[in-house]
Amino acid sequence: MFLTDKFGRRISDLRISITDRCNYKCVYCRSGTDGPQFPEMPIRDYLRIARLFVALGVTKVRLTGGEPLLRKGILDMVRELGQMHTFDGQPLDIAITTNGHLLAELAQPLSDAGLSRVTVSMDAVDRDEFARITRIRNGYERVLAGIRAAQRAGLNPVKVNCVLLRGFNDEQITAFGRFAREEAVVVRFIEFMPLEEDRVWSPEIVVTLDEIVRRMADFMPLREIEHQRSETARRYVFEDGEGEIGIIAPVSHPFCGHCSRVRVTSDGKIRTCLFSVREHDLAALMERGASDDRLIDFILRAIDQKEERHHIGEPGFVPASRTMVHIGG
Ligand code: SAM
Repeated sequence: MFLTDKFGRRISDLRISITDRCNYKCVYCRSGTDGPQFPEMPIRDYLRIARLFVALGVTKVRLTGGEPLLRKGILDMVRELGQMHTFDGQPLDIAITTNGHLLAELAQPLSDAGLSRVTVSMDAVDRDEFARITRIRNGYERVLAGIRAAQRAGLNPVKVNCVLLRGFNDEQITAFGRFAREEAVVVRFIEFMPLEEDRVWSPEIVVTLDEIVRRMADFMPLREIEHQRSETARRYVFEDGEGEIGIIAPVSHPFCGHCSRVRVTSDGKIRTCLFSVREHDLAALMERGASDDRLIDFILRAIDQKEERHHIGEPGFVPASRTMVHIGG
């Protein structure tokens, strides 16, 4: 009865981009000159899509973007999602990925509306380095305040995602180790993928899982702990048991075989893989007044075409038809 693709992977995790706009211009993600490229749908349309996926067996919905906290109506959306229940009657797991710039004001209202968890993207724990990466001044203080507000609002454990680029911010590894312990957050390093607007990716620029573990030992050695099969991050604690680090390694240790994700873009296209070269236009069907049954049929066909794996770093690699900021990470 669960939504399953032809490789037997259960699809339980829906990521919805609710806006293509972003207030940051992170150098490894955006060109710095290009703005939003894709329209937004009314919130009620995203909710309809979520309801259909939940009816098919999705148990977790993550709101992303662009920058999701820019979207008016996000509190109502979280509140409505909070009314939905999974197949087995459990409340839906509702998460947000955000750059954290507006989180200090929104953490408590989001928690009150029913948000389960928040992941904050942060690629440096030094204010000048942070400004160099995001091209936004005074962002670091705001994001730190956002993380602390999320903790006070009970959105624990707050996860902090960091993308490392060799020769750019990789000297931050040990500082992030200290940050994880001092701020009581789970810091997760993500290997850089070829999904940027400026096409700067090369295998050499990727700081891999093995290297991160090795270099973190300069601060304190890590010990791997168990992670669930469907979890993307390998989990580690410091050798004294205090502080958790995760490493998401799609490049050096791909986990496509356990992928449980499907994405919907801000303009209502289903993407079955970050690296998809084609999309499934659910929005067009909705505009034509399709019934729920028709939409479910369309979703099932799309899932049936989910790619087996990505081909990062292989000869003949074909770039995804959209970059990360326009997909929703
Ligand atoms: N604005 C929100 C934020 O900053 O979290 C949500 C969208 S952002 C595109 C989602 C995540 O994708 C961020 O953690 C960002 O660091 C990550 N990201 C962007 N480009 C990436 C890439 N090429 N490889 C790996 N992660 C990337």
